[in-house]
Amino acid sequence: MMAGNFFERCRMCKACCRTSDRFVHIYVCGHEKRLIGLLASQGRDTKEILVPYAASCPYLNDSGCTLGDIKPFQCRLYPMLVLRDGTLGVDPACTYSGEYMAQLKDASSEAWQHYSAMKKEAALLSKEEKALLAEWSRFVCDVVVIKADGE
Ligand code: SF4
Ligand code: SF4
Repeated sequence: MMAGNFFERCRMCKACCRTSDRFVHIYVCGHEKRLIGLLASQGRDTKEILVPYAASCPYLNDSGCTLGDIKPFQCRLYPMLVLRDGTLGVDPACTYSGEYMAQLKDASSEAWQHYSAMKKEAALLSKEEKALLAEWSRFVCDVVVIKADGE
């Protein structure tokens, strides 16, 4: 199923797992219990994964993300980003974003299934994780907002 594995179906450029000119904070949400358990077992911060300045995420290898289905919501969501009010938008910086937007016109497409699943999870966050969303969305700019029903 696509919802947790969109990364494997995109262009695999891995640009979203690397930084060139800043640190990236990938926030871990309270409902991501398996991920929190893994981070705790590794002695890591359970609130966020930090991608260092001009570097790759510590969970990236040549094959892609080593976290598989338990990668953080922020990563499972991409190429979408979430705004402060829970609205979803597509990041035009992703080279797959055009194809993703095009697929959203078709309710049977994988992108639409991904969008539907992520929309439910984003709705949960906008109820239960308001502070996290506010912090997270400080870094969100330049998105193509997706209107109701993926149109
Ligand atoms: S930037 Fe887009 S195309 Fe590249 S790996 Fe990330 S989701 Fe895939
Ligand atoms: S957790 Fe996985 S998908 Fe997210 S930035 Fe790291 S390697 Fe990429």
